[in-house]
Amino acid sequence: VIVYSPRFLDHAPSPLHVERPDRLRAVVARLRAEGLFEDVVAPVPAPLADVRRVHGAPYLDAFATRPDGFLDPETALDDDTFEIARLAAGAVLDATRASVDSARPTVALVRPPGHHAGPGYGGGFCYLNSVAIAAAAHAASGRRIAILDYDAHHGNGTQDIFAADPRVLYVSTHQFGIYPGTGPAEDVGEGEGRGFTVNVPFRAGCGDASYRVAFDDVIEPIVRAFRPDAVLVSLGVDAHYRDPLTSLALSSPGYVELVNRSADLAARTCGSRFVLAMEGGYHLDALAEVWAGVVGHLAGRRAEAHLTADLDAEMRGAPAVRATRAAQSEFWNLR
Ligand SMILES: [Zn+2]
Repeated sequence: VIVYSPRFLDHAPSPLHVERPDRLRAVVARLRAEGLFEDVVAPVPAPLADVRRVHGAPYLDAFATRPDGFLDPETALDDDTFEIARLAAGAVLDATRASVDSARPTVALVRPPGHHAGPGYGGGFCYLNSVAIAAAAHAASGRRIAILDYDAHHGNGTQDIFAADPRVLYVSTHQFGIYPGTGPAEDVGEGEGRGFTVNVPFRAGCGDASYRVAFDDVIEPIVRAFRPDAVLVSLGVDAHYRDPLTSLALSSPGYVELVNRSADLAARTCGSRFVLAMEGGYHLDALAEVWAGVVGHLAGRRAEAHLTADLDAEMRGAPAVRATRAAQSEFWNLR
């Protein structure tokens, strides 16, 4: 199942903004061309009760009281911002419910993205934290949810929402030091949530080899031990070497391998209750071929990729993975 609405193309329609409708158009066009844009369903808006589980009332009031305002200079509020952001959250909620019920992977192709939106703030092109809203809804009904955030930016919003919550494991790989500046390895959660926040703070140049080691030495052992009931992926494609906003170096095949291994991990730990939700990614070809690759894998097919350069032969991420393992060793048995 792919949950998608053309209404997502109406958000922030300026072609001058980096988070622009052409991103989603490029993904849908490639999936169509590959015969992968099938079994598509329209979302319903997220119920306000689900939104309120994650975002506080004073923050939500901003959408009503500040139309034509800004959350930050690049995150504008328009008349329809709240409606479309709520529909994006609804899409991830619908995809998660479909996956939990059917024990099959699902996909939510949405914009705006969400992982920078926290309990009382938005920013970084994000308004409502769609993945967090879906995770919180299922955690509230007693499920354990693992969120794997492969966007190149740290998901400060998701981390803040679940910092003290042991029902939701948040794992982020990101370039450390760029926007929003958060996410050192030493951030491990708070109170009862200690050990359920896992940050791998990569430096510039980390690519396929670094992500492979992070998966082997951090992500897989921790997710297996956590025993989730569902795995949600915040899939930003801006860690790609062609991305204009960051300096990470995943190739298209490296990205597809990372996500495919995550799907296989979900198959082993939670019966393929596995959701891919779109976050960032700003190079249209990279975005399209990575999404075609991962949706193709879920459909049992291969999609061709052209952006295949391996730029991380030195495995620049080893120090970050070591730092994460050291910070997490009191919570998890990491050999
Ligand atoms: Zn990003």
